[in-house]
Amino acid sequence: VELERLGIQQSVDAIFPPAELATDLSVLPVEVTVVDEAEIAGCDAVVTRNHFEALFDVEWVHSTQAGVDRFPLEAFAEAGVALTNSTGIHGRTVGETVAGYLLAFARRLHDQLASATERRWERPAWDEAFTLPGTTACVVGTGTLGRGIADVIGSLGVETVGVRRSDEPLPEFEAMYAVADLERAIADADFVIAAVPLTETTRGLFGAAAFERMRSEAYFVNVARGAVVDEPALIDALEAGQIAGAALDVFETEPLPEASPLWEMDEVVVTPHAAAYTRDYYRDVGELVRDNVGRLERGEALANRVV
Ligand code: NAD
Repeated sequence: VELERLGIQQSVDAIFPPAELATDLSVLPVEVTVVDEAEIAGCDAVVTRNHFEALFDVEWVHSTQAGVDRFPLEAFAEAGVALTNSTGIHGRTVGETVAGYLLAFARRLHDQLASATERRWERPAWDEAFTLPGTTACVVGTGTLGRGIADVIGSLGVETVGVRRSDEPLPEFEAMYAVADLERAIADADFVIAAVPLTETTRGLFGAAAFERMRSEAYFVNVARGAVVDEPALIDALEAGQIAGAALDVFETEPLPEASPLWEMDEVVVTPHAAAYTRDYYRDVGELVRDNVGRLERGEALANRVV
């Protein structure tokens, strides 16, 4: 790949100002410009959040997100376009967000914030609040997110087990289960946390059977993708008191429709697909892109390559 023109597609402005990344990448020996949809075809490489048909005309596309489920991977392969993602940078941010959810539930902060917005001075019932040491979490998906989550909640005293495709152990987790044993892995956990990519095998992974298997005191957390959960089954489980509550950053339909019952549930925390947000996001993406430009110059294989 001969790189002369690298475009920063405007869709990245959902996460950071495109110009910040352009400035960060201006040290590169290539022309770096912010491009709209019509200008994509004039680039050799493009950094983007969204998919566009014109991306099939460039040589290399870098996704600012870790999940590439919105990109048509087969069509990229057919067009001979390399696709790289931003896996590797979200462990600490998402880990801290998940720790925040767990602390909110344990210390009843979500409930007290809801009361405070209505100027109500209302304490938790005597037996509602708890502390995290001694609780257990089951993290499903043990990549960057899963390990970052285990690291941060582990430092708060949560005993964490993992679920991955094999049951081979990892140092961040006290025990490991294969995904075929999902229902056994989640049965005793106080917190079940989804951190898998959305693929044909993980679509609907958390359905009625999983929520039936969870403890009625347990909380479900989704920072992966909405479609790894059967959302109607989750709503049923919450309404039936089959599980205690949920913290959800991702949904089947985003933005979450105003009519969704999830907005109104006292024990459900809704966040707007922002678990990985940080003012350093553009720097972290910039580092991945600079590293890969260096690899191309040296004739080496791209890092984080998906297609
Ligand atoms: P990653 O590539 O580092 O890790 C993904 C892990 O999932 C890998 O270890 C992989 O082996 C494993 N995996 C794949 N298929 C599996 C299956 N069927 N069962 C069990 N494990 C399986 O990616 P990451 O950075 O950890 O991100 C994971 C996903 O989380 C992304 O694909 C994205 O959808 C989502 N994500 C969401 C946010 C957010 O803002 N909420 C931020 C980053 C990532």
